[in-house]
Order: sequence, then C-alpha cells, then structure tokens
Amino acid sequence: MLRVKGKNDGVTTDPFQLEVREALRATGLPQHLTATGPSPVRLGGEMLGVEEGTPVEVVADVSNLGESLLVDATVYARATGQCSRCLADLDEPFSVHVSDVFGTTSDFITRDGVSGAEAGDDDDDFEPLMVDDDMVDITQLVLDEAGLTLPFSPVCGDYGRECAGDTPAPDGVSGGDDAAPDPRWAGLAELAGDLTDDGEGAGAEGAGETRDRRNDA
Ligand SMILES: [Zn+2]
Repeated sequence: MLRVKGKNDGVTTDPFQLEVREALRATGLPQHLTATGPSPVRLGGEMLGVEEGTPVEVVADVSNLGESLLVDATVYARATGQCSRCLADLDEPFSVHVSDVFGTTSDFITRDGVSGAEAGDDDDDFEPLMVDDDMVDITQLVLDEAGLTLPFSPVCGDYGRECAGDTPAPDGVSGGDDAAPDPRWAGLAELAGDLTDDGEGAGAEGAGETRDRRNDA
C-alpha cells in the first residue's frame, strides 16, 4: 500500500494510517489525534457501504501500555447504497468503533500467550498488529468492523423511514401469472365454461317451453 512516511506531523493522506509518535514517547495521558482523508478502501457490503474515496474522519486515543499501544478509534463517514426492498437511495451517517493493541517491540511478537495473543481470536493464525515506523494501520480493523456493523440487506426502516410507496409490484406480477393459464389449456377452459352455462340455461328454458306448448295445445 502506498504510504508517505514521516513526511508530516500527524497528517497523512490515508486516514487509517495513524501517526503515533507522541504516544510512543510518553506513557502518561493518551495521545488524542484526529485524521481526515479519503477512505483508501470500500467499507461494508454490496447494498450499503462507504465508497472508496469517501471523506472519513478518524478520532482516536492512543495509550502507551509499555510494549504496546492501545488504539481506540472511531471512524465517521457517510454510507451510501440502496434499500434492499424498494431500491430507494440511502445516504446515511455511519460510524464504527475499533479498539486493538499494537506491539511496539519485537518482544511483543515472540511472547505468545501474553499481550499479542490476547488481541487475536486464533492463536495459530494470529499475526500481532505492530507499530511500524511510528505509524499504526487500522485499515483491516475498520474493514472488519464495518463489515459487521453495516447491514447486509439495508431497508428504509433501518433509518426511520418507510419504503417508497409500498409498491405491490411483486403481487401484480404474480397475479398476472395466475390470470394467464397455460395457453394449451385456455381453449379447453373456455369451451368448458360455455358448455356449462349454455347447457343449464338451454335445458331449463327448453323444458319450460315444451311444457307451455303442450298446455297450449
Ligand atoms: Zn425501502
């Protein structure tokens, strides 16, 4: 991934690359930092997400734990997409919170079962997050958390709105199907209908006429 190293003071073009030099120097108060810039990746699912290049703001507190830094960050952005039911456009404020530990020394890597392993779910595949050249990369954390947070099938109701004109499109389509029988049977159905109507009507009238004529004669 492209990255400009040490070029400036706390401002990077990639808002998910946080410059933590201040926190590395001091073990006192957490370093509070903000970063803004275009998202380097797309966050979220198919129907709703933060597009790559969307401006995002990252507000973070970074605490020095000795051999690691605790990075506590909230990412603010706008998620855009479509309602999965009525396809109305969605454009919603979105924030996601991530918190993880980044190692600052090689000891952090080799000391299995201590701080590094605690931060991960799988002991075998776990690769500890590391501070690299006074920077921490929260891209993967944000990606994972946004994927869990943003709804996979968003609907207007998720955002306090009703779907556009409760459209009966699916009902109309299925109704049309019901009203259109197999063309091979359509003629037979009409014939059967005609026979039933005419047969009963003609039979009753015919019987009456016959009786009347007999009486007259
Ligand atoms: Zn909708």
